[in-house]
Amino acid sequence: MRIDILTALPRLLDSWFGDSILQRAQQKGLVEVHIHDLRKWSNDKHKRIDDYAFGGGAGMVLQIEPIHLAISELKKERSYDEVIYMSPDGALLDQPMANELSLKGNLIILCGHYKGVDERVREHLVTREVSIGNYVLSGGEIPAAVLCDAIIRLLPGVLNDETSALSDSFQDGLVAPPAYSRPAEFNGWKIPDVLLSGHQANIDAWRHQQAVERTRQRRPELLEGSPELPFGDG
Ligand code: SAH
Repeated sequence: MRIDILTALPRLLDSWFGDSILQRAQQKGLVEVHIHDLRKWSNDKHKRIDDYAFGGGAGMVLQIEPIHLAISELKKERSYDEVIYMSPDGALLDQPMANELSLKGNLIILCGHYKGVDERVREHLVTREVSIGNYVLSGGEIPAAVLCDAIIRLLPGVLNDETSALSDSFQDGLVAPPAYSRPAEFNGWKIPDVLLSGHQANIDAWRHQQAVERTRQRRPELLEGSPELPFGDG
């Protein structure tokens, strides 16, 4: 998979992708992430890429020209499955969307800034708009990093224990069951006996029952519209 990120603030993203799981995934050749400074495509002598909004009002707008040039240049080299614009009014990112995007080959992700981008970018150049939540951040870099993390950790070989992403919250429509590690007793606080039983079927049943119960308590909306979910053993 290849991800090209277009941004006005590339340095914000460099450190994110230069570390941890995301860096290892790139070193293993499982994903290529290219971060591009939109100023590279500015025809302005001061390398500006934003301007005032027509009609007035506070806030600068990212101009269409450099964005159009950037996308055209990338598309000359290879085809892209999606050109994604990070936007607070886009489709809300959730696990099924991350799963879907993790199956794609090449993605462009555009980060907005200031007031956002010229609307014609959204009308003509973007194929999908994604929000990471109903709140407004000052730029699309953190949202792009969140989206990339959610996608990249799903790529086969990225996580050491390959089953681990599948047992995370939301993958089966349930939140994750509680996890414990050594010591089995700390400060008088004990872990559930079943986890020490060595009986894997009982442990699996307990985890499932905990996941269902937690989902009921914390995220009941995940259970709505899923009548096929197994409640029987809860
Ligand atoms: N004026 C815009 C907000 C612009 S915020 C509005 O009211 O909708 C500046 C940029 O930050 C946006 O262009 C977008 O790329 C990014 N951004 C802010 N909040 C976001 C969110 N919740 N999800 C995704 N991107 C977001």
